[in-house]
Amino acid sequence: MRLLVVEDEKKVASFIKKGLEEEGYAVDVAPDGEEGLAMALDRVHDLVILDIHLPRIDGVHVLQELRKQKVATPVLLLTVRATIEDKVLGLDAGADDYLTKPFAFQELLARVRALLRRRAEAEPPILQVADLTLDPAQRSVSRGGERIDLTTREFALLAYFMRNPGRVLTRTMISEHVWDYHFDTMTNVIDVYVNYLRKKIDAGREPKLIHTVRGVGYVLKAE
Ligand code: CA
Repeated sequence: MRLLVVEDEKKVASFIKKGLEEEGYAVDVAPDGEEGLAMALDRVHDLVILDIHLPRIDGVHVLQELRKQKVATPVLLLTVRATIEDKVLGLDAGADDYLTKPFAFQELLARVRALLRRRAEAEPPILQVADLTLDPAQRSVSRGGERIDLTTREFALLAYFMRNPGRVLTRTMISEHVWDYHFDTMTNVIDVYVNYLRKKIDAGREPKLIHTVRGVGYVLKAE
């Protein structure tokens, strides 16, 4: 579990970092909103602890930007003011929880654990077809135990196939689910991406999993 602490007060940041590390978490610290936002956008953290009052970019704007960029990492906001307006503003911006300073470390820890547990419960299950597995939470794919590296788009395409094993997917269905829109010109792009996937998933392996259904689309199945 890797956590990000965005906090400009050095004492508070090191107190949180030290305490969480003693509990076995890996902890990164960002000293301002700009750096915090850049680190959180890497999507490698399981949780972000975000101070509201930060230099460069304040916490609420960092949070709004993260949610705008579809980063779903849970965020625990730290605030000194405990007005209802502040809490509503934070929660509206996409915070999962908030904590008012000063706080006892045990309370922070309890909230961190609760947020991480909630996230674990919400994690989708691992998908499997024959010896091909896809882990949506880890964003990893392997076949026969061998890890396969995919681009973001290839991953999204394979995930769509694996959620619909044995079902013929038309190019229109694929473009709407994987690209979020539909263009006639997309058909060629889809064929190109399916070929990329084939090279990574099926080339040199048996059984072949991605099959062309002539004039219709594609189907993922083991046979
Ligand atoms: Ca601060």
